[in-house]
Amino acid sequence: MAFEGVDFLRLDELLSEEERLARDSVREFVSREFLPRIQEHIRRDGSFPMELVPRMAELGLFGANLHGFGCAGMNNVAYGLVMQELERGDSGLRSFASVQGSLVMYPIHTWGSDAQKERWLPALAAGRAIGCFGLTEPDFGSHAGGMLTKAVRHGDRWVLNGTKRWITNGSLADVAVVWARTQDGILGFLVEKGTPGFETSDIKGKFSLRASITSELALQDVEVAESDRLPGAEGLAAALGCLNQARYGIAWGAIGAAMACYDEAVRYCRDRVVQGGPLAGKQLTQEKLVGMLAELTKAQLLALRVGRIKDEGRLHHTMVSLAKRENVDMALRIARTARDLLGANGIVDDYQAMRHMLNLETVRTYEGTHDVHTLILGKHITGLAAI
Ligand SMILES: Cc1cc2nc3c(=O)[nH]c(=O)nc-3n(C[C@H](O)[C@H](O)[C@H](O)COP(=O)(O)OP(=O)(O)OC[C@H]3O[C@@H](n4cnc5c(N)ncnc54)[C@H](O)[C@@H]3O)c2cc1C
Repeated sequence: MAFEGVDFLRLDELLSEEERLARDSVREFVSREFLPRIQEHIRRDGSFPMELVPRMAELGLFGANLHGFGCAGMNNVAYGLVMQELERGDSGLRSFASVQGSLVMYPIHTWGSDAQKERWLPALAAGRAIGCFGLTEPDFGSHAGGMLTKAVRHGDRWVLNGTKRWITNGSLADVAVVWARTQDGILGFLVEKGTPGFETSDIKGKFSLRASITSELALQDVEVAESDRLPGAEGLAAALGCLNQARYGIAWGAIGAAMACYDEAVRYCRDRVVQGGPLAGKQLTQEKLVGMLAELTKAQLLALRVGRIKDEGRLHHTMVSLAKRENVDMALRIARTARDLLGANGIVDDYQAMRHMLNLETVRTYEGTHDVHTLILGKHITGLAAI
């Protein structure tokens, strides 16, 4: 039976025709073209179905909420629904689109020169070029401001040295957005694949986000031109601005992962017979399913409200922190409960729950850990910085 979504409070009625269309086309793509491939890719750690990239571009999934340069120009609710549907497939699929759109195209679109925009945005939107975002370092994740990567200016050239780690799509990327410390504070640079001194290597052995490539970027005396610096990106705030875009998408994406787990659990419990009757008919099971539906429904309301506020241009970054923190936490709890309800079957990759559960451990960590968002919100409430 086709996946029909989860919509207890008839939130569909609050969506425009365009928003529903964007969601439904991605839902169909994920069901027909992505899900039949996922098992093969998670069994091969660090492999992404690259053959789907042109199709993703055709659906307008790269930089979907950006305007011009071949981008789809969707509103933020439609964009969120797209992220939800991609993550219903796999967090790795949503991560691919999030990095390309929110972490590479967004900074070029917002802070790039006209030449940088013309050169990269149409190619990234069409999937002819792939991008990655290098902020995290081996010793600086949550505290990105402590980064050691340095860029030193020599006339109209810059020389970069340092290591970035845990970089999604690092070895696939034609262009890396690299953040480095300079005498003028932290600045962003576009580093092209093949630039002498720029090497990538993939991180293997991941239990989480297996259908996604995660790399280390090594920069040794890498020379780029002043024209490769993002001219409008000043300070760490610019890098954090990109993360805020991606985190917004994650708040929706987590709903997709939770929907997949809830849907799988309901179907499984209806079919599974224990002690003479369907598992779904047992009181303990129903208590678990009701808890899942209630959590999921609250998460949908949260994301939709944040999306509408973002479309009105009134979004505050703490609202995104709340939505990312709560919705990922919700999804992780639902994935764990679904895995539990599936019993032993829940631990194999013929079912989705454990794959989503393991993926969501990464989603809880990246784009600001659960704790970091707690501290951002704690500061907002009290006015006292505990971070
Ligand atoms: C699969 C994957 C893909 C990723 N992709 C990218 C990417 O494309 N680009 C990129 O730049 N980065 C990427 N990251 C990195 C990610 O953003 C970092 O892992 C994240 O910021 C956390 O940093 P850390 O791993 O160094 O953990 P740490 O910062 O060392 O945190 C470890 C623990 O300490 C807690 N903690 C941290 N600070 C405090 C504090 N002040 N008080 C209390 N507790 C605290 C954290 O919440 C966490 O529980 C990716 C990570 C993964 C796993």
